[in-house]
Amino acid sequence: MRGIGPKQSVLLEKLNLYTIEDMIYYFPRRYDDYSELRLIKDLKFGEEVTILAYIKSISSFTSRNKNRKIIQAVVSDDTGNIQLLWFNQDYQLRYLRKNMFLSISGKIEQYMGRLVMYHPEYEQVEQEQLNTKRIVPVYSLTARLNQRWLRRMMYQIVNQWAPKIPEFMTEYILEDADLMDLSTALKEIHFPETAASLKKARSRLAFDEIFLLQLGVLKQKLEYERLTGRIFEVEDAWLLDQLVHLPFELTHAQQLALQDLRQDLASGRPMNRLLQGDVGSGKTVIAALGISIVVKNGAQAAFMAPTSILAEQHYASLKQLLANEAYENAPLQEDEIRLLIGDTPSKEREAILAGLAEGSVKLVIGTHALIEDPVQFKDLQVAIVDEQHRFGVAQRSALRDKGNNPHLMVMTATPIPRSLALTIYGDLDVTVMNEMPPGRQTVSTHIVYPTERERIYNLIRSQVGKGYQAFIIYPLVEQGESDADSVVGNGEPNGDENMAAVEEQQRLQSEIFPNLHVGLLHGRLRPDEKEIVMRKFRDREFDILVSTSVVEVGVDIPNATVMVVEGANRFGLAQLHQFRGRVGRGAAQSYCILIPETSDQAENERLLAMEKTNDGFELAEYDLRQRGPGEFLGTRQSGYTNLRLASITDIQLIEKAQV
Ligand code: ADP
Ligand code: MG
Repeated sequence: MRGIGPKQSVLLEKLNLYTIEDMIYYFPRRYDDYSELRLIKDLKFGEEVTILAYIKSISSFTSRNKNRKIIQAVVSDDTGNIQLLWFNQDYQLRYLRKNMFLSISGKIEQYMGRLVMYHPEYEQVEQEQLNTKRIVPVYSLTARLNQRWLRRMMYQIVNQWAPKIPEFMTEYILEDADLMDLSTALKEIHFPETAASLKKARSRLAFDEIFLLQLGVLKQKLEYERLTGRIFEVEDAWLLDQLVHLPFELTHAQQLALQDLRQDLASGRPMNRLLQGDVGSGKTVIAALGISIVVKNGAQAAFMAPTSILAEQHYASLKQLLANEAYENAPLQEDEIRLLIGDTPSKEREAILAGLAEGSVKLVIGTHALIEDPVQFKDLQVAIVDEQHRFGVAQRSALRDKGNNPHLMVMTATPIPRSLALTIYGDLDVTVMNEMPPGRQTVSTHIVYPTERERIYNLIRSQVGKGYQAFIIYPLVEQGESDADSVVGNGEPNGDENMAAVEEQQRLQSEIFPNLHVGLLHGRLRPDEKEIVMRKFRDREFDILVSTSVVEVGVDIPNATVMVVEGANRFGLAQLHQFRGRVGRGAAQSYCILIPETSDQAENERLLAMEKTNDGFELAEYDLRQRGPGEFLGTRQSGYTNLRLASITDIQLIEKAQV
């Protein structure tokens, strides 16, 4: 590119711009709409305006009475003149020159009966690009890179190269989805003719992103289907014997899931299945049965969970399910099952690694520690990923790479509408378990208004008096989106929001529950600190846990019977449902108390759905209708960062691309 030398290249590289293609796909972060500019002749006192004008004259003088240095510029746009004034800002003279063409923003004031602007904001503009009063792109920059320079380069590049980029979409799709052609879209997204054409350009390019994402996922799926996987079969009698030795009878939904799993394992292709089931629907036992079929045939299994505490929990329950000492046909011995997490002592860790490499460890349960480098399996044939939405695509495939085309099952409690699932999990086959084990107490859910809070404190006191525990959740107030280039949030609260929980914990401890132990969990704690708090809560060192929404992950504290959500109106129903799933895990009656910020009935109508149903999918559907798709995936979407325009949750766009 003419005009881009070694010095500029270095700066562009900081923005990951190496090629002309990179530049063309480096979209503006926002636009300044100079198409709505005001003419000087139409200006009125008191207005905030932007005008485009050139400097007709510039001068400076010292005022007689106050001894102030005044800079005065007269600017014109051919419809009229206006004066700009600066006091004691000598340095302005270094920037302002006669005939300079500026965009000027500020408030219209009066001085001696004439309109003036005091200390306006201004920016020099290229007359060539702006003389038609257009919409101007504003790019994200890096230090020492200048907006005007970049804009000029973009202008050259786009004009020269956008027309040469071949259209890859077929005529049919273009017409059917009513899309702008690629060259025009690329030109319009940088230098739009009108707001309407900018919109069309954005929707074309967003369509491309989703379309290509889905194409990629489908390609991936076809590739998996071509792979061969080892066949794992067991006799009906053996499986039945396993089932009768479970501590409970499988639900119908679990039986169907087991059937899917068994078929996958026997298919000769690597299983690639998503097991979706509400909190408490009993996914773990399905994973355990899959593992048992594989280890019965001599191969190894891995089970990955997002946090150490969850891994520990699974370790305990899988040992019970798979290595029951009282059962002679149990598929595993206790010492064939091991736990590998961040703080596994190094000696034990060595032993586990050795056991995995030589094959004496048959099942390893752990965190992402499992996908780290030194971990090697002799013969990994099935990998299970729990709470899949906490992991990225890369981590899933890293686990898969630990074996030779192993079978893979991922599990999630997040209800996802079908079209969205096809995009995110389109390379997976999906099993949905839409049934709860019998005898489960439904959590008694109530909306309680702030004025009645004392009643809730009494409920907590009496439950703790009976030996139970309680959660109190505080909301995250979303940060105002001050700027369009703010990066995608990672779901972590900012400092002030954590403060609410911190302060409340202190208040609750000292004023409300002085005789109880009140713990605190919030987003500013390091992951290991969070674990320590959760562990203490599990071990009943705390009676009450005050938390921000970080508590959401599926930790099992069967002894907790009260879930109080403050500011409940701020949460999506799917998320409230996740909170509610933290209680009601034991035999005792549990309570979920939703405290909205106001007593306004209409505003809180949405929350009534929580009282009405316990079905996570139903609630998710309700959320989808009420609040849009963003609510489903309040989590980090690792792996989708290359979407610049499209949102992974834009259902309409996704459906359009699927048709
Ligand atoms: P999730 O799907 O949320 O991971 P879990 O696998 O942790 O659910 O199961 C929740 C609880 O339900 C566990 O205590 C488990 O032992 C129990 N459970 C699972 N299946 C059944 C069943 N068919 N009947 C009774 N209890 C069950
Ligand atoms: Mg679970």
